[in-house]
Amino acid sequence: MSNIIGIDLGTTNSGVAIVNNGRPQMLPYGEKNIIPSVVGRAPNGKWLVGTPAWNQYILDPDNTAVSIKRHMGEDYHVDLGDKRLTPAQVSALILRQLKIIAERHLGETVSEAVITVPAYFSDSQRQATRDAGRIAGLKVQRIINEPTAAALAYGLNLEEDKLILVYDLGGGTFDVSLVELMGGIVEVLASHGDTHLGGDDFDYQLARYLADRFDEENDTDIWGDSRAQARLLRAAEQVKIKLSNRPFAWVKEEYLFEKDGIPLHFEHEVSRSLFETEIKPLLEKTAASIEQVLQDADISAEEIDRVLLVGGSSRIPLVRQLIIDLLDIEPEIGINPDEAVALGAAVQAAIIQGEPIDAILVDVTPHSLGIATAELRLGTVIPDQYKVLIPRNSTIPISAEELFHTLYPGQTKIEIQVYQGEKEIASQNRLLGEFLVENLEATTDEGRAQITVRFDFDMDGILQVTARDRATGQEADMTIEASLKRLDETDIENAQNDISALRPLPDTTKALIARANALLANETDGMDKVMYEKLETLLSDIALAQVNHDVLRIDELSETLLDFLFDLE
Ligand code: AMP
Repeated sequence: MSNIIGIDLGTTNSGVAIVNNGRPQMLPYGEKNIIPSVVGRAPNGKWLVGTPAWNQYILDPDNTAVSIKRHMGEDYHVDLGDKRLTPAQVSALILRQLKIIAERHLGETVSEAVITVPAYFSDSQRQATRDAGRIAGLKVQRIINEPTAAALAYGLNLEEDKLILVYDLGGGTFDVSLVELMGGIVEVLASHGDTHLGGDDFDYQLARYLADRFDEENDTDIWGDSRAQARLLRAAEQVKIKLSNRPFAWVKEEYLFEKDGIPLHFEHEVSRSLFETEIKPLLEKTAASIEQVLQDADISAEEIDRVLLVGGSSRIPLVRQLIIDLLDIEPEIGINPDEAVALGAAVQAAIIQGEPIDAILVDVTPHSLGIATAELRLGTVIPDQYKVLIPRNSTIPISAEELFHTLYPGQTKIEIQVYQGEKEIASQNRLLGEFLVENLEATTDEGRAQITVRFDFDMDGILQVTARDRATGQEADMTIEASLKRLDETDIENAQNDISALRPLPDTTKALIARANALLANETDGMDKVMYEKLETLLSDIALAQVNHDVLRIDELSETLLDFLFDLE
């Protein structure tokens, strides 16, 4: 076993890993694989590191240091209790805690480490990191770049020539690097980033938004109070994390503030779309950095082989979307982004000691999982769209939740069809199961019902699908055994044949739909609004019947449509 430990000394969280029997693994502390990079001084003079320090931050932010990495190498200090500390000294307390965690696991003294730093760290920032190690009693065997560590963690075959983009969005810093693997050497070709951009900023943005809502409700100025501010920041972070796999989340803070001696509570629901609007300008900066890196290295997007996501904030769904929109590559999140860098540091440590290393084993979903939806575009129903809730290669267990609404006003039931696969047309994937949700009640102004669909996928490949009516809270669910194996081509073909046999609409119905669509397209010819809506509803009903494989209903609706068109034309 290698006894040089690998350390990710992060802005928000830090972690320690080791290679054991060829396998890189995190060394957990209690239930968690990472600890908050927070240091505090308790009133009794005791040093607090990690979660206890983070808990103290709410009560006593002035005696607690967060995000110290932002100041590494600067002429800067923090006062904690009666002690004045440099950033290297604060970092040393975090490193010392990680050293203790490792020693407890290994049952022996640990004295050497590989520590990671962002690729853009200057010499003085790297030196401050070495100093921190020395103060903590660790000989720093090597300082390596975080993107290099990530590439190592992903077990990339170093001998293969590849261009990898590592997008690392953590708590306090953003860093994008273009890494070239060539002849066993990992080289950072270009890197760009922002030392003051990350999850903390998203929390801040959201906390300010919440403070404004609170002030509106109570005619207060809550932001001026440092304890209330710390609580709002923490609440914002919790909501942000929840919104990574669900469309809405609640903030509930009791006794948040006091006004004229009266305690004030706060409850507010935040939607993912609001959060995305708040952080979009910040994420756009990361897109600009990607473009900068490509330009600096004189590389076009098409030349990139893989995109690796690192850092806790890269779990935000909008990040994945941004990469796809910008580079047209599905980014990889196979390894827990919070752990990738520490695991890579452990791999580097093992390499230094000449230890053999196996690939990191992660359980991932081999296929995307989603549901069939229909869309209304310019008055035409486009059925059989595939909306992915859990993208393939997601680490399991995983949960995801999305919001949907009914297609037309007054619709009271929907059929949830669960598919597994990668095709954009839902029915070309493998149908895993279907169930009906009934008695829906309208919530939107146009009279549509809103339904949240939640997927919970566990380690055994069991998928629990829950649909919930937002108006009534009523739920319907089903449990499905999803495949953890990759389907082979014949499986996929068979699955497609099974389903497409049920699919096509009769030619007569197709012709009627074409006629109806032509009429709708020329709607300016003076068609009555009521007629227009009736026609639209009929088309939606047919689409729905098609999605539900309801052949009898399709026949019935086709006849109604025929009569209706006859009248109209
Ligand atoms: P890191 O510095 O890489 O440990 O990243 C920590 C940051 O990631 C913090 O700002 C966390 O709030 C954020 N984070 C962790 N998990 C999630 C998640 N599921 N969704 C969004 N942000 C997250």
